[in-house]
This record gives sequence, C-alpha cells and structure tokens, in this order.
Amino acid sequence: MLTVNEIFHSIQGESTHAGRPCVFVRLTACDLRCSWCDTPYAFHEGRKMTIDEVVAAVDRHGCPLVEITGGEPLLQDDVYPLMERLLAEGRTVMLETGGHRPIARVPRDVVKIVDVKCPGSGEADRNEWRNLDALAPHDEVKFVVKDRADYEYARDVIARDRDVNAYENEIDEKCVELLALHQPAASDLRFITTAMKIVTDLERIGDQAVNIAQRALELNREPQLKPYMDLPRMAEKAQAMMKESLDAFVARDTALARRVRGEDEAVDALNHQIFRELLTFMMEDPTTITRAIRLILIARFLERVADHATNIAEMVIYLVESKIVRHTVG
Ligand code: SF4
Repeated sequence: MLTVNEIFHSIQGESTHAGRPCVFVRLTACDLRCSWCDTPYAFHEGRKMTIDEVVAAVDRHGCPLVEITGGEPLLQDDVYPLMERLLAEGRTVMLETGGHRPIARVPRDVVKIVDVKCPGSGEADRNEWRNLDALAPHDEVKFVVKDRADYEYARDVIARDRDVNAYENEIDEKCVELLALHQPAASDLRFITTAMKIVTDLERIGDQAVNIAQRALELNREPQLKPYMDLPRMAEKAQAMMKESLDAFVARDTALARRVRGEDEAVDALNHQIFRELLTFMMEDPTTITRAIRLILIARFLERVADHATNIAEMVIYLVESKIVRHTVG
C-alpha cells in the first residue's frame, strides 16, 4: 500500500529527459524541510492506493516515461515493488530522491535523480554521501543553487568527488591487477589488502571534509559565537594524525603507527570538552543554539577524521606485524 499525493501527466522539466511527456507519481511525506521547498502540500496530503491502482492510473495516460517523486519517495517501502512492476511493464522509470536516503535498494535500471542539498536548503547535513558512489552511468545528480555560496559548494563537491573517486578507482584497479597477475603471498598480499582498506578510509575522510566545509560556510554567514581555541587544536591534531598514519604506511613504521593510535584519546577528550563548553553556551543563551550545534558537528566530524587515521595506523601494524590490534589496547 502506498500513500499517493497526486498522479498527473505533464512535460518533464528537469534532467536530461527534459521536454519528454512524462507521468508523475508524487508520493506523500518528506522528512526534510528545504527552505525553498515548492511542494509542502506533499508532506501530509494523500490517499492510500495499492500498487495495482497506481499502475492502472499510470496506464491511463499511455506514456512510456514515469517519474516517481515526492515528498521523499524512498520513505515508503512499497515504492520498491512499484518501481519493479513499472520496469517489468517496459516503462522508463525515473526516481527523484532528496539524497539523504540510501539508494542501494533501488533497481539498477531506474534512472535515479539524486539531490545533493546545498547549504542554502538548510538540509545539507543530511546528504548521504555514499549515494554518490552508488550511482549508475545513467543516473543524474541535482543541485538546487540558491546563492553564490551554494554554487561554490556544488562546484567543490563535484571537483572533490571527481578527484577522490579517480584516485580510489586507480588504486583499486592497481591492487586488483597485482592480485590477478602476480598472485602475491604473505606480506605482499597483506600490503595490497591494506592499501585497499586505506583507500576506503581516505574516501570517508574526504566526506568528513565536505561536512566540515558545509558547516563552515553556514557559520561564516553568522556572527562568531566565541574565540575558537579548542577546535583549531583539534583540527591540527586530526590532520597530524592523518599525515602520520600515511607516513607510517609508507615507511612501514609501527612505532609511529602506535603513536597515532595513542593520540586518538586526546582528540576524543577535546571533542568532549568542546561539547561541554557549547552546552553551557546553549543553556545560558538559547539564541546561540544553532551556531553551537554547527560547532559541535564540526568537532564530531574532526573526531571521525581522527578515527579514520587510527584505522589506518592499525592497518599498518597489521601489515608489518601480521597482528590485528583493532579493539585492543597497546
Ligand atoms: S526534499 Fe523535496 S519535498 Fe522534501 S522538503 Fe526538500 S524540496 Fe520539499
């Protein structure tokens, strides 16, 4: 059963399919509240329909192109069988999603139009960055740009993603080639598998950097809440940990890797200290809440960068000593 806001026949106005006749199936409900939303009527209004009833309503328009939109269509579980059914009947099926729900379960043949929410939407911290890695060649990404800051954000996301993905693919391909052609054993095999895992951590660090940049853009539009002392210290430590973990990998230096592991506690302590301090600000003056939350999020993202650096350091120890130290002390 689906809750459907409206089904109508019109001209597709967006994407590379713009200009084509299209049937739109708008599903009810959305868990975002974009500042510029033009379909708030889809948040609550709708009627229950079975998949058969939706397909029959689509059929009446005799149109081969269908877009499922919202609201947020991926909030309703029956959207998946609906997409399968429409594909099975030979239609081109498009799905527009806000970009904060995982798209992994969406059938591969569906053309996914995935939003990346820019800071001007007020929902940029909800972006699910892993969706960008799950896109098929026929899928598309949509940015709604409200102002210059949004434009620069969109441009940076595209550039960053292109660079990081290119490096990630290059390293993955090189590792697979080494495995296939040279059938390495023991330490060489550990080196290749370690490199493949490190690439994933580096990609996640890239995601955290984008998250920090989003909050920084928002904070730059507002008066500074307080002089920043611990946050720059935390950023310096997290950056140093990342650099040292990679140096340890290159030099196969387990002493340095162990030092990086030990530094994680200091970053965690700074994170707690920042949280406690900002909590006091929020309790004393509620007008500081929004800015304080942005700063708390930045501290949390930095803590995750340090966690990824720790993962890399632990993999270096595994590489050199063939010893798994994750979840152990020392
Ligand atoms: S995701 Fe779409 S429906 Fe939801 S609030 Fe944003 S613009 Fe509106």
